[in-house]
Amino acid sequence: MSNQWYNFNEETDLPYIFGLDNNQSMIKIPQESFVVHKDALDGFSFFLDEIRNAGFQYKIISTLRTFEHQKKIWEAKVLGDRPIMDKQGSKPIQNVQELTPNEVLWSILRYSALPGLSRHHWGSEMDIVAVKENAIMPKKIELTPAEFAPDGPFYDFSLFLRDFTSSQIGHQFFRPYITPLRPAYLGPEPWHISYRPLSEEIYRNFRYDYAQDFLLSKIKEGTLLADEIAKELHRIYRYCFLLGS
Ligand SMILES: [Zn+2]
Repeated sequence: MSNQWYNFNEETDLPYIFGLDNNQSMIKIPQESFVVHKDALDGFSFFLDEIRNAGFQYKIISTLRTFEHQKKIWEAKVLGDRPIMDKQGSKPIQNVQELTPNEVLWSILRYSALPGLSRHHWGSEMDIVAVKENAIMPKKIELTPAEFAPDGPFYDFSLFLRDFTSSQIGHQFFRPYITPLRPAYLGPEPWHISYRPLSEEIYRNFRYDYAQDFLLSKIKEGTLLADEIAKELHRIYRYCFLLGS
C-alpha cells in the first residue's frame, strides 16, 4: 500500500480538480467498471479486499464523476427530472415549483455538489454498499440514510465501515459526509468513502480564487441556475466539501 501523498501542481491540476480533464491519471479497478486516480488504486484495492475478507459482497455505486456528469445530475434536479431530497435525506421535496431559485440551489446542494465542486471529480472517492455474502443485494438501491440505519439492508456494512475507518489499517480512509465532519442536522452519507492521502492533499490546496477564476467561467457557459450560483459562489465554496457529494 502506497503512503505517498499526492503532489498537487497548480499549473496542471486545475482542470483535474474541477472534473474537466483528468490528465489521463485515472485507472480502472481490476474486475470492475469503475475508475479511480492511479495514486488511489492500491488503497482502494486493499479496501475492497478487506470488505470481502470480512464476509461481505459489495456493489460500487460511483467513483469518478466528471464535471459533465455532475452537471447532468444538477440539471436533472433543477428541471425536476430527479428528486431533490428533503433536509434529512429521507423523502423528496414535493413543492419544488414553489421554491425560489435560491432555495432550489441550496436544497440541491445538501445532497449533490455543484458541478466542479464534487469530491467525486478527484478519483479519490467511492460510494459503495455491501451485504453479507449469504444475503441478497437489494435490487433497488437509493443511497438514503435509512438503508444504513439499524433496520436497513446495509446496517452491518455501516458497522464495518465505522470500525474499518477507525482501525490502524483503515486510517487512510474516512467518511467526509457523516458527523462530526458533516453537520448533524443533515442526513449523513455513510456510503461515501474517501481515500485520504489523495483527497486531503487536494482539499488542503483548494483555494476560493480557483473556483472564482477558473470554475465560474465554465459554469457561465451554460449551467442551469448559473446567475444564482455566481451570487452564492463564496458561500457554496465554504460548505462545498461538507454538504453533499
Ligand atoms: Zn459520494
